Amino acid sequence: MVSRRVPLSLAALALPLLLSACLFGSGGSEKRPAQSRQPSRGPITLREPTPRDTQQCFTDLSRSGIRYSPLPDRDFGGGCVVRGAVQLLDIGVPVSGIKSMRCPLARAFTGWVQFAVAPAARQMLGSDLVRVETFGTYSCRAVVGRPESATKLSEHGLANAVDVSGFVLKDGRRVTILRDWQSSDPAVRRFLEAVHGSACKRFATVLSPRYNAAHRDHFHFDMGRGPFCA
Ligand SMILES: [Zn+2]
Repeated sequence: MVSRRVPLSLAALALPLLLSACLFGSGGSEKRPAQSRQPSRGPITLREPTPRDTQQCFTDLSRSGIRYSPLPDRDFGGGCVVRGAVQLLDIGVPVSGIKSMRCPLARAFTGWVQFAVAPAARQMLGSDLVRVETFGTYSCRAVVGRPESATKLSEHGLANAVDVSGFVLKDGRRVTILRDWQSSDPAVRRFLEAVHGSACKRFATVLSPRYNAAHRDHFHFDMGRGPFCA
């Protein structure tokens, strides 16, 4: 268990403005931009009271020993609105590539890393998890890989999705979705099946290489509509 606890008031003071400035500056450049979602104006900071469920989610993160910084609500245009998001700073294991995440997504993700991926690495692969690699979280774009959904805003445009691409172990091994989903090592295959199965219990939608070719190199997790597990 992680023993550090960060009071909400302290976390709320931690660099929210600085973070939002650099984090959102590069938003929307990842993957292919949605043609119909080009923002016609700069981001607007929304000044709305924080809903109770979002406050509860912040409290849950703090109680779990997660270090994070709440981000201001922003409307980026083109339907890309991010409410109740956080920047995760320390969840016990370094995670590459994560920017803003809506709090319930961040809560599900940290639980998955701490209570599913880390134990599975130790028990099934015999080494500690030292890093989770992602392709990112927020990105203002349409759904990729499905032409019929080309104009549908991705959950990434709401900071409500994360794409996980691989895991690094203390013994130096790197397990990637692209290379190891059909690994010749049955323990590695079982590990990826186990963490995928656990994700299906924690996130609303889970997509893997089994779903389509666009997901051959990552797991997509989101907290939009569900449940859907593929
Ligand atoms: Zn995704």
